Amino acid sequence: GQNVIVIVPGANLLLDFEDLKRASDVICKAKVVVCQLEITPSVSLEALKMARASGVKTLFNPAPALADLDPQFYTCSDIFCCNETEAEILTGIPVGNLEDAEKVGRMLLERGCKLVIVTLGAEGCMMISGDKPIPKHVPAGKVRAVDTTGAGDSFVGALAFYLAYYPKLSMEEMIRKSNCVASVSVQAPGTQSSYPYRKDLPQDLF
Ligand code: ADP
Repeated sequence: GQNVIVIVPGANLLLDFEDLKRASDVICKAKVVVCQLEITPSVSLEALKMARASGVKTLFNPAPALADLDPQFYTCSDIFCCNETEAEILTGIPVGNLEDAEKVGRMLLERGCKLVIVTLGAEGCMMISGDKPIPKHVPAGKVRAVDTTGAGDSFVGALAFYLAYYPKLSMEEMIRKSNCVASVSVQAPGTQSSYPYRKDLPQDLF
């Protein structure tokens, strides 16, 4: 049930500032913009800045993690969502339990994020917000994991969906539902959640 990942950046690294300019209309009118580090980091950062300048919500996933991440990524992220490994690379704190995740969360808030989510695999995730810096553990349901590849992407994608289409839900509820979507994705081989095709799953996700 644990994944091993090979990254072949290929075409991703060809995406440049000119491409961003061409997409600026879409970026600036979006409800939410999600960025991570599988394209050139400076291009990701520029996309976040463009979104910010237009009042678009920004969700950043520092994957794959960089120890010397440009500090502007923190200040440009409304939501900064990392897993345990990424959290350790960014802060030097190994995350083995909820307390460690809380320490990481506080440190990342100090760097300028508005809200930090640390995903914790089978344990769900921890969220902490600058407005109310009381950490909250949002557990995931117990499932039989057969392939966790893409669980983090599934979580981030689901969260972006709820931010865009159900903005009135509380953050805790969005995270609970995103945990649920991600926990579906680990129950089958591959990275797809296959949710719409499964009638035996919770029906309150939409
Ligand atoms: P990544 O895929 O980036 O390593 P995680 O392993 O933290 O990220 O998983 C992301 C999310 O996927 C978790 O917050 C949780 O919602 C879900 N998840 C991952 N593994 C499991 C599991 N074994 N059981 C239930 N949910 C899981």
